[in-house]
Amino acid sequence: MLKVVEKFMGDMTRADLSKKVRKVILDRQKDLCFYCNRPLMGFYVLDHFVPRSKGGSDNAENRVAACQACDGAKGGRLPINEERQRLATILNS
Ligand SMILES: [Zn+2]
Repeated sequence: MLKVVEKFMGDMTRADLSKKVRKVILDRQKDLCFYCNRPLMGFYVLDHFVPRSKGGSDNAENRVAACQACDGAKGGRLPINEERQRLATILNS
């Protein structure tokens, strides 16, 4: 649990994405968690869709806003096909 909170705080304070880019990511998901679809209400983690440990980039195209619970549950796994298709749809809309 502590690890999750640290990660959350780290992502919230890390300045790798500008406010503008964060807003773009939230807007394209309509302020909903990418994984569970619950309203984020301002509390979110910018998850690396493809984990950095697996070669994913820091760019907006590889980031999804997720609630703390989903980000913690996802850990370092690779996205499944359904998630890849869903992100592709979001990016192309
Ligand atoms: Zn969630």
